[in-house]
Amino acid sequence: MTSLGEPRWRGGQLLSGLLRQRWTRWDQFSNLSRSLRARLETEVDLAWPTIVQSQPSLDGSTKHVFALRDGRQVEGVHMPYEDRVTLCLSSQVGCALGCAFCATGQMGIIRNLSAAEIVGQVVAMLNHHAHPQDRPLRPEQEAEGHRAPLGPGGAGPRTGPVNLVFMGMGEPLHNFDHLMAAFGTLTDEEGLAIPPRRITVSTSGLVSGIDRLGTFARRPRLALSLNATTDAARSRIMPVNRVWNLEALAQALGRFPLQSGERITIEYVLLKGVTDSQEDGRRLAAFAGRFPAKVNLIPFNPHEGSGFEAPEESRIGALCRLLSDSAVPVSVRRSRGQDVAGACGQLVREGQPRHPKPR
Ligand code: SF4
Repeated sequence: MTSLGEPRWRGGQLLSGLLRQRWTRWDQFSNLSRSLRARLETEVDLAWPTIVQSQPSLDGSTKHVFALRDGRQVEGVHMPYEDRVTLCLSSQVGCALGCAFCATGQMGIIRNLSAAEIVGQVVAMLNHHAHPQDRPLRPEQEAEGHRAPLGPGGAGPRTGPVNLVFMGMGEPLHNFDHLMAAFGTLTDEEGLAIPPRRITVSTSGLVSGIDRLGTFARRPRLALSLNATTDAARSRIMPVNRVWNLEALAQALGRFPLQSGERITIEYVLLKGVTDSQEDGRRLAAFAGRFPAKVNLIPFNPHEGSGFEAPEESRIGALCRLLSDSAVPVSVRRSRGQDVAGACGQLVREGQPRHPKPR
C-alpha cells in the first residue's frame, strides 16, 4: 500500500480482505474506496493459485492440484478431522534432494514457491471446502455490516482450527525466506491468525536451515524426515545425508531451542527389508532419546516404479512396541489420501519437465 502512495494502515485492510474474508477479486474489496479498487485492478495482479483438479479420497481427504501464474502446478491435500482440519502444503515446484522413495524428488527442482503462492494454497483450500455459511462474504453483505466469517484459528466456525504441515512438494528449508514470510502472514492477527504451534515444517535434514530456524523466537514447529538409522542406509535413500550425516543431525536437533513441552517430530517411513529391522528400531530409539522427540512411524505408500514395499503389520507393531518400551512417544501414521496418490512421497505432477537429480 505504501508503494502505491497509500497510508500504511491500509495494509491491514488489504490483509483482512485477502485472508479473513478470503476475497479473490479486487471488486470484492468493499473495505477500500472505489477509486483505489480501480487502481488495484490495473496495477496489481491478484493471482492466487487456483485449484484446477480435485480428487477426493475414500477417507475424506482431497488432493488438490493448484495452477500457478506461470503455468506450473503443485499439489496440496485437505484432511478434515472431527475437530480440526489439516492442510498439507507444497513449498517448491519439484525438489532438489532426490530422496529415492519420493515421487516429487524424481522431478528435480524447478523453482521455489513465493510466499503468496504458499499462502494462496491455504486460501484456495479453505474456500473450496468452506461450509456454505462460512463462505467469504459478498460485497453487498459486507456493506450491510455482516461479520467476517472467520474466527481465531483461521477457519469458519464449522471448520474448526486449521493445522498446516509443510510435507507436500519440496524441501521447505530450501525456500527459507519465502517460507518464513508466508509463516508471518499466516499467523498475522489481522489475517488467518493461525497459531504458530499449529504449523509444522518437515525437513529432510538441512542442518544449516535447522540452525537458522532455531534463531527465530516465533517459528513453526520442526519435524525431521529421518527414515533410516545408519549413514549407509540413509545416504542410499536420502542423498542429503552425504552432506549432513546422522551425527550432525542429532547434534543440530540437540541444540535446537525448544519451548516448554515442545517436541521434535521424527518421521520414519517404514520400507520393507530396508528400514524396518529390530536393529533399526533400537537405533531409532537411541537417536530419538537424545533430545525431546516423538516418533511417527509411516508405513510406505507404494507408488509405481518406486521399487519399495510396505512392511507387514506384525513388523510395524513390533517396532512400535520397541520404541514405546524405550520410553519414546510413538504413533503409527496411516497416510491419508493413499488411493488418490496424495499421500506423503506421492506428490508429483505428471507431464512437468524432469530435471536430473543431484547425487
Ligand atoms: S522427501 Fe521431501 S526432501 Fe526428499 S525429495 Fe521428496 S520432497 Fe524433496
